[in-house]
Amino acid sequence: LEKIVECDQQQHAVTKDQQRIMVHINAGLSADSHLALNKGIDGVGLYRTEVPFLLQRSFPSEEEQINQYRAILHTYPDQPVVMRTLDIGGDKPLPYLSIEEDNPFLGWRGIRFTLDHPEIFMIQVRTMLRASIGLTNLDILLPMISGINELDDAKAIIERAYTDVAQTALAAGQQLHKPRIGIMIEVPSMLYQLHALVGRVDFISVGSNDLTQYLLAVDRNNARVANVYDALHPAVLHALKHIVDSAKRYQLPVCVCGELAGDPVGAVLLVGMGYRSLSMNARNVAKIKYILRHINGSDMTSLATQTLQVDVADDVRQLTTAFIEQYQ
Ligand code: PEP
Ligand code: MG
Repeated sequence: LEKIVECDQQQHAVTKDQQRIMVHINAGLSADSHLALNKGIDGVGLYRTEVPFLLQRSFPSEEEQINQYRAILHTYPDQPVVMRTLDIGGDKPLPYLSIEEDNPFLGWRGIRFTLDHPEIFMIQVRTMLRASIGLTNLDILLPMISGINELDDAKAIIERAYTDVAQTALAAGQQLHKPRIGIMIEVPSMLYQLHALVGRVDFISVGSNDLTQYLLAVDRNNARVANVYDALHPAVLHALKHIVDSAKRYQLPVCVCGELAGDPVGAVLLVGMGYRSLSMNARNVAKIKYILRHINGSDMTSLATQTLQVDVADDVRQLTTAFIEQYQ
């Protein structure tokens, strides 16, 4: 795999047998707003809004937030920019807000924190909407949803923010586009609630990092159990297959934005399972495009079918690595 030559990043990702795969970037740092660095991407699949919050000494003001959101939305005006609402807690504690908990990964994180702090959530969503005035590319993504009640509550707040900002915009003679709303599929409970998302969300985004952590009951950052944390565990692969099959059945647009999408082995398996949209760190884009362009989608499908019969993660890795190496 080391031998993979980086391809021209500006070319679209199309498999050798002409299946188009959308390749988006995961963003959060200001460098991600530099168009020249990210030519040829299909949009921003995940903008982690907590990143600028984590870099500050205190809660960013509305004006600070709006400048950050405007920068990224205006960099990619013709492509979707998926902005995730604040996902703090867990491994991402804010330096200026102490949350003491025995089990932070099972505690007050993501949507749980923001629903308990509607003022923070409201300001953030309103700011995203204000930043999007004049554009049509804002998608809002909700992290750590574990049940439909959280989604409904979050949507009610977004609706209020929308009405608010739309009125102000209208008074100034401007139109406010309705954002598409989606949720992260990263808490395993959602695997059994996908049907309930029909009519409630416009898209879903698979967080394979947390999905792996919660399915395998293993801390994603604990070196002691790093050997247990494996996104190629057959249970994770079957979950991913179930999600893509359900998304097709329910006609829910789906993207994978966890680290797996930017890993050659993961990308090949995901495309083989049926995913057509991947979001990854910008540094992985050229490598993943190169691999996808050199392999037939139909061969990836056969590989995925074969690996789904395998019982051990190491065997999945071995099979998939050998498969990719044939093409070098
Ligand atoms: C994930 O959980 O896979 C994900 C993309 O979100 P984060 O890594 O920010 O938790
Ligand atoms: Mg996550």
